[in-house]
Amino acid sequence: MIKIVQPIIEAEEVDGVIAVLKSGIIAQGPVTKEFEENFAKQCGSKFAVATSNGTTALHAALYAAGVSAGDSVITTPFTFVATANAILMQGAKPIFVDVDEETFCINTKLINKAIREDTKALLPVDLYGQPSEVQELESIAKKHSLKLIFDACQAIGATYNDRPVGSFGDASCFSLYATKNITTGEGGMITTNSEKIFELAKQFRHHGQSESQRYEYLDLGYNYRTTDFASAIGNAQLKKLERFTKARQENAAYYTKSFNNIPGLITPRVAPNRTHVFHQYTLRITEDFPIDRDQFVERLKAKEIMVGVYYPKPLHLFPQFKSLGHREGDFPVAEKLCKEVVSLPVHPLLSETDRQKVVEEIIKLSKE
Ligand SMILES: *Cc1c(COP(=O)(O)O)cnc(C)c1O
Repeated sequence: MIKIVQPIIEAEEVDGVIAVLKSGIIAQGPVTKEFEENFAKQCGSKFAVATSNGTTALHAALYAAGVSAGDSVITTPFTFVATANAILMQGAKPIFVDVDEETFCINTKLINKAIREDTKALLPVDLYGQPSEVQELESIAKKHSLKLIFDACQAIGATYNDRPVGSFGDASCFSLYATKNITTGEGGMITTNSEKIFELAKQFRHHGQSESQRYEYLDLGYNYRTTDFASAIGNAQLKKLERFTKARQENAAYYTKSFNNIPGLITPRVAPNRTHVFHQYTLRITEDFPIDRDQFVERLKAKEIMVGVYYPKPLHLFPQFKSLGHREGDFPVAEKLCKEVVSLPVHPLLSETDRQKVVEEIIKLSKE
């Protein structure tokens, strides 16, 4: 079977974890601090704060940027649920804005008319590993005095105008979940150039506790810490990020070259001035293809090729967002994409024979 995702754990990760286990410091300690420094360096940011997962990174970043109850935050309905849930977790209201059909990222042209009096922040998503339209977002945020926080959970290693993801805006959030481009099993990270956001995120992660005075609580906080054995895995994974990313990009290039000119099959587009790290390689199966997307998934599964649908339903149709009053038809691009997208195996362990088989089977389907 050709898997859609395969975490890569090698000797370095194993040795790192064992060293931590033997060190006696197994909660969050010096190895995490080292991981934060390495991560900040990778992202070209001044600071980084490790958290327990990507969702808690988003929640802590929103808090640290000053988002609170009564505020609204602009994001897209075509993302993983945690993006918008984090806004609710902070007592704020998500405002959905439709995505761009070609990049799957927020359509910056639609943001201006979505901004309201209570809008505090923008939370764009670098979906599938392609950075959002950073320059436009920076200018909108500046013009309207909004905080700019990126959900970069899928985009570590990507660049925009040669600047690394994680270096823009007020903060960026990453996930280190098992399926992400680098992993610590579960884990998250916030990068920022703001000392204030850095300090507040650390405080929020640690029960709202003052860093200088133990048992002095400056505000509500949570336990969003990570562990040093997770961070040991992270340190080893970071060293391989470039190798992993190159392998993903090479697999993606192979697919795109092989799927040239197939009616009804749209390959992913990388916008100019951006690099894409292909957390997912996502095709669109449109009505000109002989079978629909769901049949496409089933047929490949029958050939032992696992593919994924990220995401089958847009967020505005789920119960926790019901009070926003949306209905089907409100975000036509996101809704259409939910019916068309399918992601192929693109991970670094995919072999030459694997990807050839994926291409052959899809070309067969296109000729039915
Ligand atoms: C993975 C992911 C998250 C959540 O990260 P977890 O580590 O699973 O909590 C949030 N947003 C996006 C876009 C993601 O892909």
